[in-house]
Amino acid sequence: MSFPTPDQQEPNEKAGPLTDGDDPVYPGAPLTKGQSLLLLMSFILRHNLTAVSLDHLLKIFNEHFPGMVPVTTYLFRKAYGQYGNYEPHFYCPTCENYLGKNTGELQCDICHTVTDSDSSLKSGCFFLVLSLASQIKTLLEEKQTKIQNDWLNSDTISDIQCGDEYQKLKESGAMGEDDISLIWNCDGIPLFRSSKYQIWPIQCQVIELEPRERKANICIPCLWFGEKKPYMLTFLKPFVDELSILQKDGIKWKDSANIEHTSKVFALICSSDSVARPLLRNTKQFNGFYGCDFCYHVGGGPYTNKDPVPKLRTEVEHFDHALAATLEKTVMGVKGPSPLMRLENFQMINGFVPEYQHSVCLGVTRQLANLWFDSRNHEQEWYIGTKSDLLDKELVTIKPPVEIIRVPRSVADRKYWKASEWRSFLLFYALPLLNGVLLRKFWNHLFLFVFAMHILLGEKVKRCDIDVAERALRKFTLQFEKLYGAANMTFNVHLLTHITTSVRNWGPLWATSTFSFESFNGTLLKYFHGTTHVPEQIVRRFLSWRSLTQKAEKVMADANDGVKKIFAGLQSSHLHSCNSASLNENVRVFGKPCHGTLSPSQSSAVKNLLGVTVSQCVFYHRFIVKGILYHSSSYTNLKKRINSTVELMDGRLCRILSMLVFRLHHVSMHCVLVRELKNTGKLLCRDSELNITSYFVSEVLQSNNVCAVPTDLFYRKCVLIEAKAKNYVIPLPNNIERD
Ligand SMILES: [Zn+2]
Ligand SMILES: [Zn+2]
Repeated sequence: MSFPTPDQQEPNEKAGPLTDGDDPVYPGAPLTKGQSLLLLMSFILRHNLTAVSLDHLLKIFNEHFPGMVPVTTYLFRKAYGQYGNYEPHFYCPTCENYLGKNTGELQCDICHTVTDSDSSLKSGCFFLVLSLASQIKTLLEEKQTKIQNDWLNSDTISDIQCGDEYQKLKESGAMGEDDISLIWNCDGIPLFRSSKYQIWPIQCQVIELEPRERKANICIPCLWFGEKKPYMLTFLKPFVDELSILQKDGIKWKDSANIEHTSKVFALICSSDSVARPLLRNTKQFNGFYGCDFCYHVGGGPYTNKDPVPKLRTEVEHFDHALAATLEKTVMGVKGPSPLMRLENFQMINGFVPEYQHSVCLGVTRQLANLWFDSRNHEQEWYIGTKSDLLDKELVTIKPPVEIIRVPRSVADRKYWKASEWRSFLLFYALPLLNGVLLRKFWNHLFLFVFAMHILLGEKVKRCDIDVAERALRKFTLQFEKLYGAANMTFNVHLLTHITTSVRNWGPLWATSTFSFESFNGTLLKYFHGTTHVPEQIVRRFLSWRSLTQKAEKVMADANDGVKKIFAGLQSSHLHSCNSASLNENVRVFGKPCHGTLSPSQSSAVKNLLGVTVSQCVFYHRFIVKGILYHSSSYTNLKKRINSTVELMDGRLCRILSMLVFRLHHVSMHCVLVRELKNTGKLLCRDSELNITSYFVSEVLQSNNVCAVPTDLFYRKCVLIEAKAKNYVIPLPNNIERD
């Protein structure tokens, strides 16, 4: 591993971006030099071009149109200009102690090893650090109109800002009006199948952005790489150093009215899995004694239920333990101080969450499935491996809506299921499909788990419902030990006892999960080619992507429509670039308009809604309502999917037949034809002791009742499941978290 040679390196400021960017590419050309470069850069990024393929492309261009575009990759980069900085920070080759970022001779003040920056670059004893301040500043100036500041106390929790811990910071004045906060993640990603080589990015999201914006705009302050996990005392140092400045002095940025703001930045929540979490906290992992990050369960083996329940850890005690711990002796599972303890407002206990992607989806849900289907359990009464073929038949015929990226796979393939597949299995498939398959007591027990997750993953969670979910989870964990035995009381089962607290503190589970971070890990893996200079390639591509929108604001403002359209096409997904029309701010239709005549039943449905007779109209079979994409049940291009099941505001459940657009008294109007699904009112399961039911599952019958409904009445998308010759409708608990 070595640092790139000068011609591979990002152009520095001296090289400078081209100064004549506003000039046309040639006299009378339809685009400027700046626009030409920006289009090329989006093309490179969108299609993941290597430096070599870019070089070839530029050469071909220049044969056709000499001098119209830069001749080499290097000149292209030089002309495109600066897109952010990164620098190597060095560590000791002997003890991994932090050595700083200076070039020249470096000496370790712990083991006194002498080295220098050049040999550290060659041997890979460094990691990359990017300015967090400049990334956040860019983000704030870009997204400023969308900064959320509604943290007012209410009885529903709809995001991180409604949580108790966030509110405490606001109420105490520890966080001011303009201040912002971060949720961050740190986890390893293996890069190649055949080696241990991995990268460890730190990823940050700005909590004050709207959830979808937040999850789509991740900042990366540090990137570690190599064959070993990062040495956290070293790796966290520059991150904590920069945050220490940002929490004191803040970031200066300007809003659209050109008013300057100074926003202090506080890291508040770390969302990482149970392997990374103890590394960051400098504590023992769950399999050690006192390995729980949240309480004083003795650990060291199965996490059996204790009576009384173990006391919760506190901040003050954690600091005492960290200071009392020595290399030879941990104190209550704490190995020593962590650099994170230097951060103001970041809590070493409550700042971490028992993150549900790993603990629930890949944790307890997968564990249960393995208990049920693994042949090694064939003597247990919960074993249903012999019925898995029958189960598979129903499972693989389920047609989920488009929010669920993968259609269900056979339980025999569960080894390959992704976290999102486990989530769908838990929330939608398990209860209807295992009804009558699993012994009643195990199925009733499963219901408690599914029930709690539907509540805690809700788009808005009522505080009183969190209490109910907590009772369900308490009963679930207590019974788990009785039903499946003490040996199966894993740490993940134990974490369920801490999960409701995290929702009270920091909002619904989707708000603090690692799903968006993990998904960005997948994106980072596409940012390099070959096996050399991998971290540098990743960081540079990451910065180029970030620079695009920033540069586009200036460069594309005066572009002609053709250029703008190409640029938009290169930036966005297929859906946005295809044929579409907006009906109002909430409704957009896709595809060719299809003119037709309403049948008598359709016409009377419209008359029931509007009181007038409409005969001619335009039909659409694909449309977006309030950010949710629907397809009508007759849309034939969508195989293996049912994307037409919707719950209305008034509780009715329907299948969408089509969107109708027509003119009435010269005004364009629209409504949606649906076929009602008749709710039988039968409850799938209930727990009479807790007085809870499977309110989220509706057993329905097909009906011939066609109605017209206004799009305002649309509430949420549902999953339609056929099992045991019955139809069930289960809503997606939220429309924010995507697979
Ligand atoms: Zn050393
Ligand atoms: Zn615990």
